[in-house]
Amino acid sequence: TDEEASAKAAAADVDSGATTIFDKIIAKEIPSTVVYEDEKVLGFRDINPQAPVHVLLIPKARDGLTQLSKAEARHEEILGHLLYAAKKVAEKEGILHGFRVVINDGPTACQSVYHLHLHVLGGRQMKWPPG
Ligand code: AMP
Repeated sequence: TDEEASAKAAAADVDSGATTIFDKIIAKEIPSTVVYEDEKVLGFRDINPQAPVHVLLIPKARDGLTQLSKAEARHEEILGHLLYAAKKVAEKEGILHGFRVVINDGPTACQSVYHLHLHVLGGRQMKWPPG
């Protein structure tokens, strides 16, 4: 699939330390629709939405968190902050009654941007298992 191909291509960057398109979004060098922002995290609409609500939540400082599997003890606070921000996004978007939070980790899970991000999805009946 297209997702698998772009995930494999992106995997080449994993350990390069290269910045990603999300740094440009944080710096407002490329446009995004921001739905949540605080001093530590940014939430903006996914450009290729998979549900009526599809928001990406990212730490403003990547700090080595290219993906969840690279998390270390120092990241505990930001990880908790992101998850609580996901609840606030769901509330703001009117989907608190039912939503999904997803983290894709690595090529096998179709991760395509190596800056940790939570997908907050909702606004329709979700299916299980995910693809
Ligand atoms: P993942 O496949 O889990 O790494 O998720 C990366 C997500 O970033 C995908 O859902 C893309 O649609 C999304 N994305 C890529 N570029 C942009 C962009 N410029 N603005 C908003 N979302 C983007």
